[in-house]
Amino acid sequence: MFDPLADTAASPEQRQVRATLRAFFEREAPIARIAELDSTETYPAEILTGMAELGLWGIAVDEAYGGSPVDARTRCIVIEEIQRAGACLGYAFIPTALFCAEAIGRFGTDNQRQQHLPALAAGNLRMAMALSEPDCGSDLMGLATRGIPEGDGLIIRGQKTFTTGADAADQILTLVRTTEGATPRHALTFVLIPRSHPGVDVKPLKKLAGQATHTCEVFFDDVLVGPEAIVGEINNGAAIVMDLLDADRVYTAAQSLGIAQGAFDIARAYALQRSQFGTQIINHQAVGHMLADMAIQIAGARALTEAAADRLDRGLPCRSESAVAKIVASEAGTQCALHGMQILGGYSYMVEYGMERYYREAKVQEIFGGTNQILRNVLVRDLGGGR
Ligand SMILES: Cc1cc2nc3c(=O)[nH]c(=O)nc-3n(C[C@H](O)[C@H](O)[C@H](O)COP(=O)(O)OP(=O)(O)OC[C@H]3O[C@@H](n4cnc5c(N)ncnc54)[C@H](O)[C@@H]3O)c2cc1C
Repeated sequence: MFDPLADTAASPEQRQVRATLRAFFEREAPIARIAELDSTETYPAEILTGMAELGLWGIAVDEAYGGSPVDARTRCIVIEEIQRAGACLGYAFIPTALFCAEAIGRFGTDNQRQQHLPALAAGNLRMAMALSEPDCGSDLMGLATRGIPEGDGLIIRGQKTFTTGADAADQILTLVRTTEGATPRHALTFVLIPRSHPGVDVKPLKKLAGQATHTCEVFFDDVLVGPEAIVGEINNGAAIVMDLLDADRVYTAAQSLGIAQGAFDIARAYALQRSQFGTQIINHQAVGHMLADMAIQIAGARALTEAAADRLDRGLPCRSESAVAKIVASEAGTQCALHGMQILGGYSYMVEYGMERYYREAKVQEIFGGTNQILRNVLVRDLGGGR
């Protein structure tokens, strides 16, 4: 049988990781539990603690700091299985365990690594990444939140928005403008700001999906931080974010695969079990072709995601490859959720089947991590186009 999940290049260890996580989430995060957490907007703390017991929080942390690092391909398997169980889990996990862990591990100071990474790897520290602002999303280099020099430190003044997990975070990794007038590449700086710091205010927003992990507005009202808050060098934030976003897009592709695969699995099982007009509905060509198209899209998205992850592992440039993987996988996620809704008919609207959740969770994958339009612009530049 054609199986879009077939991962012929995966090692036995990688297959074991997938099997272990699939069993864990089916037990600890079934459809009904995630639906309850999302509908009550209850942070999925217990499940996240269980993920710590599996060692997941340390997958991007060096062993010297208590982590158990795995390659990008294995990270993608972990992310896919987390997201398949529920976007609220991915939203809580990815900013901390991947984006912030990599920012501190690769660009932070020794002190920052020692202070944060052991707790992060143990699953005892939550972080959020604050890049987007009310007036600045795709045009990230135009951000307005200021880091005004004050002694050795900075006064942070401004507002971020869409900061996922900020209200549960111990630290908010925030990109600020530290130099006026300079080109954006030499004007931005990452700072680690404790959420409980005087002058920091966090307000959760109401959203469509993954509501158990809030996406928030964050206000910085003259927040004074010392030099120990600066990640990497002052005015080097643009280079750091560009570097980290390449990997982030591969992880976003893996999230989308989790949605596409989850929707496919539910739809296929339903089409085999449900009969109308005296036959299983998979035998109605219109339904069978939707399943075939889902399998084709997943197989393509999976191959591109794995290829991009391999480039990360080999230290090769990955800007266009990560963009292609993210575009194809996120559009596959949306299409698979849409087909899944059609295949389940009226039952697709019922929460207990899990399809409506994928339907709500899929679309944002085309929007965050660089919208698919912006990523197509990246490809146009690679194809020789310019502004
Ligand atoms: C649920 C959720 C969670 C998020 N989590 C985080 C987070 O944790 N941290 C964080 O920093 N951000 C986060 N974001 C923000 C996300 O990264 C932004 O929404 C995204 O970058 C797009 O920015 P924007 O929404 O301001 O849209 P805009 O940039 O205003 O774009 C609006 C539309 O115009 C299009 N567009 C804009 N410029 C161009 C162009 N040059 N060419 C073609 N089309 C263009 C866009 O593609 C889009 O369709 C999150 C968003 C959501 C919805």
